[in-house]
Amino acid sequence: MLEVRGVTKTFGGGRRRLTALDGVDVRVGRGQTLGLVGESGCGKSTLARVLLGLERPDAGTVRFDGTDPFALRGRELLAWRRRVQMVFQDPFASLNARMSAADLIGEPWRTHRDVVPGAKAREKRIRELLDLVGLRASDAHRYPNEFSGGQRQRIGIARALALDPDLIVCDEPVSALDLSVQAQVLNVLSDLRTRLGVTYVFISHDLSVVRYISDLVTVMYLGKVVEHGATEDVFERPRHPYTAALMSAAP
Ligand code: ATP
Ligand code: MG
Repeated sequence: MLEVRGVTKTFGGGRRRLTALDGVDVRVGRGQTLGLVGESGCGKSTLARVLLGLERPDAGTVRFDGTDPFALRGRELLAWRRRVQMVFQDPFASLNARMSAADLIGEPWRTHRDVVPGAKAREKRIRELLDLVGLRASDAHRYPNEFSGGQRQRIGIARALALDPDLIVCDEPVSALDLSVQAQVLNVLSDLRTRLGVTYVFISHDLSVVRYISDLVTVMYLGKVVEHGATEDVFERPRHPYTAALMSAAP
């Protein structure tokens, strides 16, 4: 269970002070997918960084299966970093162009040397990961610029899976892709969810994408959660005027 309570985060000071998160509460059960929506600047990515333990909130708590990431040090923190992973909007920006797909997928093993499989096992694992995201074993030796956008995003996903995480935060993972490619990548993510039982937080400004992939939906507006519930409930019976406006504006 991922549980966020009363999380507040402000940036800057004086007249530049900005409240990015304002008393945010979120709960997601193990193996569930939470869709996080809201307009640009409402605090989605900030919340993602807080969830991952990358950004300390000014107030409030984060717990994942009871663990508070901000209380961890040393080995425990390293173990936490292994359990939570992120998939970014633009895979190209986060993939070093000089590394092959195999090296990119195995990159997390460099920081987690205690769990690095031996050479044989590593090769096998990379083949498995490529297969999981719908790429071929021969793709292992190709470089980022030799892949399409959707394929690059699959590599980003395979890399996020390399350490068998329990929680994956996807920040606009398909926004940079063509519609047809979006559907393919979403299918990969959706299929993994069922097969691996990972907990997902899925950030998107695209309501149809969120509806497709999420069990739960949280709608944010100006740093606050204005709606949270089961996906169909939120879509069928939005309670907050902002959500209603958002739904009626959707294609
Ligand atoms: P988008 O949909 O455009 O990605 P978002 O919902 O992810 O938007 P955030 O990136 O979380 O929005 O930003 C929330 C607010 O906090 C914005 O007003 C942003 O300018 C501000 N903000 C985020 N990070 C910082 C930072 N490191 N320093 C100062 N302000 C920041
Ligand atoms: Mg963002």
